[in-house]
Amino acid sequence: MNIILLGPPGAGKGTQAARLVEERNMVQLSTGDMLRAAKSSGTEMGNMVAGVMDRGELVTDEIVIGLIEEQLTTADAAGGFIFDGFPRTLAQADALGVLLDKVGKTLDTVVEMRVDDSALVKRITGRFTCGNCGAGYHEEFKKPRVDGVCDECGKSDFKKRADDNEESLKTRLMAYYKETSPLLGYYYAKGQLQSVDGLASIEGVAGSIAGALDTVS
Ligand code: AMP
Repeated sequence: MNIILLGPPGAGKGTQAARLVEERNMVQLSTGDMLRAAKSSGTEMGNMVAGVMDRGELVTDEIVIGLIEEQLTTADAAGGFIFDGFPRTLAQADALGVLLDKVGKTLDTVVEMRVDDSALVKRITGRFTCGNCGAGYHEEFKKPRVDGVCDECGKSDFKKRADDNEESLKTRLMAYYKETSPLLGYYYAKGQLQSVDGLASIEGVAGSIAGALDTVS
Protein backbone atom coordinates (compact mmCIF):
# COMPACT_ATOMS: atom_id res chain seq x y z
CA MET A 1 0.00 0.00 0.00
CA ASN A 2 1.35 3.45 -0.92
CA ILE A 3 0.10 6.40 1.11
CA ILE A 4 0.68 10.10 1.71
CA LEU A 5 0.61 11.57 5.22
CA LEU A 6 -0.49 15.16 4.76
CA GLY A 7 -0.53 17.86 7.40
CA PRO A 8 1.18 21.01 8.64
CA PRO A 9 4.60 20.96 10.31
CA GLY A 10 4.23 19.43 13.76
CA ALA A 11 1.11 17.43 12.90
CA GLY A 12 2.93 14.23 13.84
CA LYS A 13 3.56 12.82 10.35
CA GLY A 14 7.06 11.61 11.19
CA THR A 15 5.95 9.95 14.44
CA GLN A 16 3.11 8.09 12.74
CA ALA A 17 5.24 7.18 9.73
CA ALA A 18 7.83 5.59 12.05
CA ARG A 19 5.09 3.42 13.57
CA LEU A 20 3.85 2.30 10.17
CA VAL A 21 7.41 1.36 9.24
CA GLU A 22 7.62 -0.83 12.37
CA GLU A 23 4.17 -2.34 12.17
CA ARG A 24 3.60 -2.75 8.44
CA ASN A 25 7.04 -3.08 6.97
CA MET A 26 6.52 0.09 4.94
CA VAL A 27 9.29 2.42 3.75
CA GLN A 28 9.15 6.05 4.90
CA LEU A 29 10.14 8.59 2.27
CA SER A 30 10.61 11.87 4.12
CA THR A 31 12.00 14.61 1.88
CA GLY A 32 12.74 16.64 5.04
CA ASP A 33 14.95 13.82 6.39
CA MET A 34 16.66 13.40 3.00
CA LEU A 35 17.37 17.14 2.78
CA ARG A 36 18.64 17.31 6.39
CA ALA A 37 20.97 14.36 5.65
CA ALA A 38 22.31 16.17 2.56
CA LYS A 39 22.72 19.35 4.61
CA SER A 40 24.60 17.71 7.47
CA SER A 41 26.89 15.73 5.19
CA GLY A 42 27.69 18.96 3.31
CA THR A 43 26.91 17.78 -0.22
CA GLU A 44 26.66 20.45 -2.93
CA MET A 45 22.88 20.15 -2.88
CA GLY A 46 22.83 20.18 0.93
CA ASN A 47 24.81 23.42 1.05
CA MET A 48 22.52 24.92 -1.55
CA VAL A 49 19.32 24.22 0.42
CA ALA A 50 20.62 24.88 3.96
CA GLY A 51 19.60 28.54 4.20
CA VAL A 52 16.22 27.94 2.55
CA MET A 53 15.43 25.16 5.04
CA ASP A 54 16.60 27.10 8.10
CA ARG A 55 14.32 29.98 7.14
CA GLY A 56 11.41 27.58 6.73
CA GLU A 57 10.94 28.19 3.01
CA LEU A 58 10.29 25.45 0.47
CA VAL A 59 13.12 23.89 -1.50
CA THR A 60 12.55 23.84 -5.28
CA ASP A 61 10.19 21.25 -6.73
CA GLU A 62 12.96 20.02 -9.01
CA ILE A 63 15.21 19.03 -6.11
CA VAL A 64 12.60 17.17 -4.06
CA ILE A 65 11.06 15.44 -7.07
CA GLY A 66 14.56 14.24 -7.98
CA LEU A 67 15.04 12.83 -4.45
CA ILE A 68 11.73 10.97 -4.57
CA GLU A 69 12.40 9.62 -8.06
CA GLU A 70 15.71 8.21 -6.91
CA GLN A 71 14.08 6.40 -3.98
CA LEU A 72 11.09 5.13 -5.93
CA THR A 73 13.31 3.54 -8.51
CA THR A 74 15.83 2.02 -6.09
CA ALA A 75 14.19 1.33 -2.69
CA ASP A 76 12.73 -2.08 -2.05
CA ALA A 77 9.37 -1.52 -0.35
CA ALA A 78 7.48 -4.77 0.06
CA GLY A 79 4.96 -3.12 2.41
CA GLY A 80 4.70 0.03 0.29
CA PHE A 81 5.80 3.64 0.61
CA ILE A 82 4.76 6.35 3.07
CA PHE A 83 5.26 9.80 1.59
CA ASP A 84 5.97 12.10 4.53
CA GLY A 85 6.37 15.80 3.79
CA PHE A 86 6.01 15.15 0.06
CA PRO A 87 4.21 16.30 -2.03
CA ARG A 88 4.03 19.88 -0.74
CA THR A 89 2.96 21.68 -3.93
CA LEU A 90 0.54 20.90 -6.75
CA ALA A 91 3.49 20.49 -9.13
CA GLN A 92 4.97 17.87 -6.78
CA ALA A 93 1.62 16.07 -6.57
CA ASP A 94 1.39 15.91 -10.36
CA ALA A 95 4.99 14.70 -10.57
CA LEU A 96 4.33 12.00 -7.98
CA GLY A 97 1.43 10.69 -10.08
CA VAL A 98 3.68 10.50 -13.13
CA LEU A 99 6.52 8.81 -11.21
CA LEU A 100 4.21 6.21 -9.65
CA ASP A 101 2.82 5.40 -13.10
CA LYS A 102 6.33 5.04 -14.43
CA VAL A 103 7.26 2.43 -11.79
CA GLY A 104 3.90 0.64 -12.08
CA LYS A 105 2.61 1.64 -8.63
CA THR A 106 -0.53 3.39 -7.45
CA LEU A 107 -1.37 5.76 -4.64
CA ASP A 108 -3.85 4.02 -2.33
CA THR A 109 -4.88 6.85 -0.04
CA VAL A 110 -3.97 10.25 1.39
CA VAL A 111 -4.41 10.73 5.13
CA GLU A 112 -4.76 14.30 6.33
CA MET A 113 -3.74 14.86 9.96
CA ARG A 114 -5.77 17.79 11.26
CA VAL A 115 -4.18 19.89 14.02
CA ASP A 116 -4.84 23.51 14.97
CA ASP A 117 -2.14 26.17 14.80
CA SER A 118 -1.81 26.88 18.51
CA ALA A 119 -1.03 23.20 19.16
CA LEU A 120 1.56 23.23 16.37
CA VAL A 121 3.56 26.11 17.84
CA LYS A 122 3.73 24.35 21.21
CA ARG A 123 4.59 20.98 19.69
CA ILE A 124 7.32 22.31 17.44
CA THR A 125 9.10 24.82 19.61
CA GLY A 126 9.41 22.24 22.43
CA ARG A 127 10.66 19.26 20.47
CA PHE A 128 14.21 17.88 20.45
CA THR A 129 15.92 14.64 19.52
CA CYS A 130 18.86 12.52 20.64
CA GLY A 131 21.77 13.31 18.33
CA ASN A 132 23.07 9.77 18.80
CA CYS A 133 20.05 7.51 18.22
CA GLY A 134 17.40 9.92 16.91
CA ALA A 135 14.83 9.28 19.68
CA GLY A 136 12.31 12.12 19.85
CA TYR A 137 11.40 14.14 22.97
CA HIS A 138 9.43 17.20 24.01
CA GLU A 139 10.13 19.73 26.76
CA GLU A 140 6.57 19.43 28.04
CA PHE A 141 4.93 16.30 26.64
CA LYS A 142 7.75 13.76 26.56
CA LYS A 143 10.72 14.54 28.80
CA PRO A 144 13.54 12.02 29.16
CA ARG A 145 13.20 9.97 32.39
CA VAL A 146 16.54 11.35 33.61
CA ASP A 147 17.06 15.00 32.78
CA GLY A 148 19.59 15.40 29.95
CA VAL A 149 19.99 11.65 29.31
CA CYS A 150 18.42 9.73 26.40
CA ASP A 151 16.04 6.96 27.57
CA GLU A 152 16.95 4.81 24.58
CA CYS A 153 20.74 4.96 24.33
CA GLY A 154 21.92 6.69 27.54
CA LYS A 155 23.83 9.43 25.68
CA SER A 156 23.61 13.16 26.54
CA ASP A 157 23.66 14.63 23.08
CA PHE A 158 20.31 16.32 22.51
CA LYS A 159 19.73 18.66 19.59
CA LYS A 160 16.98 20.83 18.15
CA ARG A 161 16.21 21.29 14.48
CA ALA A 162 17.53 24.60 13.16
CA ASP A 163 14.07 25.44 11.81
CA ASP A 164 12.13 24.56 15.00
CA ASN A 165 11.89 28.16 16.22
CA GLU A 166 8.97 30.57 16.18
CA GLU A 167 10.33 32.69 13.32
CA SER A 168 10.89 29.79 10.88
CA LEU A 169 7.69 28.16 12.00
CA LYS A 170 5.69 31.19 10.84
CA THR A 171 7.24 30.84 7.38
CA ARG A 172 6.65 27.07 7.36
CA LEU A 173 2.99 27.50 8.31
CA MET A 174 2.55 30.15 5.64
CA ALA A 175 4.11 27.81 3.07
CA TYR A 176 1.74 25.07 4.23
CA TYR A 177 -1.37 27.21 3.80
CA LYS A 178 -0.28 28.76 0.51
CA GLU A 179 1.38 25.85 -1.25
CA THR A 180 0.38 22.59 0.44
CA SER A 181 -3.21 22.97 1.64
CA PRO A 182 -4.51 23.08 -1.99
CA LEU A 183 -3.51 19.41 -2.11
CA LEU A 184 -6.45 18.64 0.18
CA GLY A 185 -8.83 19.70 -2.59
CA TYR A 186 -6.69 17.99 -5.22
CA TYR A 187 -6.85 14.58 -3.52
CA TYR A 188 -10.44 15.05 -2.35
CA ALA A 189 -11.47 15.56 -5.97
CA LYS A 190 -9.70 12.33 -6.86
CA GLY A 191 -11.64 10.52 -4.09
CA GLN A 192 -8.41 9.71 -2.27
CA LEU A 193 -8.54 11.96 0.80
CA GLN A 194 -9.28 10.79 4.34
CA SER A 195 -8.94 12.94 7.47
CA VAL A 196 -8.03 12.02 11.03
CA ASP A 197 -7.89 14.08 14.22
CA GLY A 198 -4.18 14.74 14.72
CA LEU A 199 -4.76 16.22 18.17
CA ALA A 200 -5.54 12.86 19.77
CA SER A 201 -2.86 10.86 21.63
CA ILE A 202 -0.16 9.13 19.55
CA GLU A 203 -2.01 5.83 20.09
CA GLY A 204 -5.34 7.43 19.21
CA VAL A 205 -4.01 8.93 15.97
CA ALA A 206 -2.35 5.61 15.08
CA GLY A 207 -5.72 3.89 15.55
CA SER A 208 -7.48 6.39 13.29
CA ILE A 209 -4.82 5.99 10.61
CA ALA A 210 -5.12 2.21 10.81
CA GLY A 211 -8.88 2.61 10.32
CA ALA A 212 -8.28 4.83 7.28
CA LEU A 213 -5.86 2.31 5.76
CA ASP A 214 -8.29 -0.56 6.37
CA THR A 215 -10.80 1.11 4.09
CA VAL A 216 -8.44 0.76 1.13
CA SER A 217 -6.63 -2.53 1.86
P1 AMP B 1 10.05 18.65 7.15
O1 AMP B 1 11.04 17.81 7.89
O2 AMP B 1 9.11 17.84 6.31
O3 AMP B 1 9.33 19.61 8.07
O4 AMP B 1 10.89 19.55 6.13
C1 AMP B 1 11.86 20.46 6.57
C2 AMP B 1 12.18 21.47 5.48
O5 AMP B 1 12.69 20.79 4.33
C3 AMP B 1 10.99 22.26 4.95
O6 AMP B 1 10.67 23.39 5.74
C4 AMP B 1 11.49 22.64 3.56
O7 AMP B 1 12.46 23.68 3.64
C5 AMP B 1 12.21 21.38 3.13
N1 AMP B 1 11.30 20.42 2.46
C6 AMP B 1 10.99 19.16 2.90
N2 AMP B 1 10.16 18.54 2.05
C7 AMP B 1 9.92 19.43 1.05
C8 AMP B 1 9.12 19.40 -0.13
N3 AMP B 1 8.38 18.31 -0.45
N4 AMP B 1 9.11 20.49 -0.93
C9 AMP B 1 9.86 21.59 -0.64
N5 AMP B 1 10.63 21.70 0.46
C10 AMP B 1 10.66 20.63 1.30
